[in-house]
Amino acid sequence: MMEFRYCPHCGSKTVPREIGDEGLVPWCTTCELPLFPMFSTCIIALAADSRAGEVALLRQRYISAQYHNLVSGYMKPGESAEECAAREVEEELGLKVGGLTMTGTYWFGKKDMLMVGFIAEVAKQDFHLSGEVDQALWVPPERALELLHPYPAISHRVTQYYIGHRDQSVPATLSERRISL
Ligand SMILES: [Zn+2]
Repeated sequence: MMEFRYCPHCGSKTVPREIGDEGLVPWCTTCELPLFPMFSTCIIALAADSRAGEVALLRQRYISAQYHNLVSGYMKPGESAEECAAREVEEELGLKVGGLTMTGTYWFGKKDMLMVGFIAEVAKQDFHLSGEVDQALWVPPERALELLHPYPAISHRVTQYYIGHRDQSVPATLSERRISL
């Protein structure tokens, strides 16, 4: 976890200071600012065509030669998680996102990263892969569980969410958490 020992604004050494209920937080005495620990926020998205009953998996050799993964990417400053999810699905797979459902948020401790999970509704068609993606394929979601990287299993949780909610029909259940773009 990135704890600030120096102020990123002015370079002064920070000192621990009691901040309300937060306890001891690094403090810059020059800027008079608390410097809370920093972490990355990423999206992870299962691109799914519910009518076709299939979801899209990617294989990216820089992540794993053996396992598949879901669309994921770092959020950019100024972007909402929803905008990021739609952008990443379009960039990585070349598919337009028709709607998004948030499945939850997941802490990925090994990378000190908060992941925001989505189901991204897309229409099944040929992929237009980005250079970061070596291969992609359409599979039923149950098959996806076998092909996905077993660690840290966040992709499994997003896919399980989809499997658990899809039979209750998209409009009824997913719409409660569905986000318009
Ligand atoms: Zn400072």
